[in-house]
Amino acid sequence: MSNIHSVILDEDKCMGCTNCIAHCPTEAIRVRHGKASIIEGRCIDCGECIRVCPHHAKRAQSDAISLLEDFDFTIAVPAPTLYGQFKDHYSIDQILTALKSLGFDDVFEAAEAADIVTNELKKSLQKKEEQIPWISSSCPAVIRLIQIRFPGLIDQIVRLESPMEIAARIIKNDIYPDKKNIGVFFISPCPAKITAVKNPLGSKSSSVDGVLAMNEIFIPLHAAAGRLEEVEALSKASSWGVSWARSEGESHSTEWSETVAVDGIDNVLKFFEELENGKIKHVDFIEAMACPGGCVGGALTVENPYISKARIIRKAGMLKEENRGGRLIPNTHAVLGMDAEIQPKQALKLDEDFKAALEKMAMIEDIADSLPGLDCGSCGAPTCRALAEDIVTGTAKKNDCIFVLRDEINHLTENLAELGSWMPPLLSDEENNK
Ligand code: SF4
Ligand code: SF4
Repeated sequence: MSNIHSVILDEDKCMGCTNCIAHCPTEAIRVRHGKASIIEGRCIDCGECIRVCPHHAKRAQSDAISLLEDFDFTIAVPAPTLYGQFKDHYSIDQILTALKSLGFDDVFEAAEAADIVTNELKKSLQKKEEQIPWISSSCPAVIRLIQIRFPGLIDQIVRLESPMEIAARIIKNDIYPDKKNIGVFFISPCPAKITAVKNPLGSKSSSVDGVLAMNEIFIPLHAAAGRLEEVEALSKASSWGVSWARSEGESHSTEWSETVAVDGIDNVLKFFEELENGKIKHVDFIEAMACPGGCVGGALTVENPYISKARIIRKAGMLKEENRGGRLIPNTHAVLGMDAEIQPKQALKLDEDFKAALEKMAMIEDIADSLPGLDCGSCGAPTCRALAEDIVTGTAKKNDCIFVLRDEINHLTENLAELGSWMPPLLSDEENNK
């Protein structure tokens, strides 16, 4: 069950336009026979393809709110990004009360768990030279990107669970330890967090029981917020915890001086390439977020990320810093660290046998050299080299390349013309009748 993904394709809607293949950071998409398909072992659930598909053929598979009925007691854990989806006059208390009114017994902010993670980050990140710079573990798409494309950076990932997971553990261990059949539901801004629950990273299993997509819950939630007669005082997180919704929120909260925040999957890719090549120096902590602007740019949000980011800054600015570190820290029984190794993932497995794999690698190089090198995507693969890989793994043919096909047709036409010149001339009807 290592390749469970939340990003799926609706084949009926796919027009085969190839828009998505160029944007996938792990070259996980192919378009063949007029339809896209996702190579499961390569997908990191970043949601880029959801964002760029003009036909809405890609979507994230989340849980339905009816899943609440399977539990006797339910808690909603909203990502702080949710607050940025609402205009400024909706307070965090109002949003949380409205969320609770949708059928939950309680709410617990992921931002409060972010406060706890911040505290742990500051305590536990000893500045061991060989592990600096540390890389934040909060974006699961970035961790999966590291597994596939930058396995040499795995040891630098902070071994702390994400605020989502820590929130669920605290709810079950500290707040409601005696409740039976309790269901914790995360309100997610991105598909990567959905996948992190179904297919956890750094832990053997998730304490989250269901994930609701922010864009699917927004309309009923907005309506509920407008209907409220009373607003409960439910907001507990500090301004720092809420700021995790946007880029720079987490890195600033550590109060380390040499931090850097990188957002957007292409920027993260380029930054990690430079980090691997030793070009990045004098940085202690890297906050890397796959989405533009951080979680506010998640593929399952409804508001423009810049608007949402500005709202988060204003709403966080109205909160106190007192809760910093989380009100529950002194007493928590929850395990905050990861309890499983993060393993590298091989995106392209050519052969079990090492020698055969090397031979296939050489074939890929030869075929790639013989292709035009235009990376035009017309063959349905993102690059000429990716097509060469597909040919060697048996999922494509060389003449899927339109330039190779054109040359083959030209060659065939020339051969036919030459063959034609060898034919005896046709006789006229008169000569035929003689
Ligand atoms: S962007 Fe990708 S998934 Fe969307 S229609 Fe085009 S080929 Fe299909
Ligand atoms: S979610 Fe990201 S990694 Fe997965 S197929 Fe889409 S673009 Fe590629």
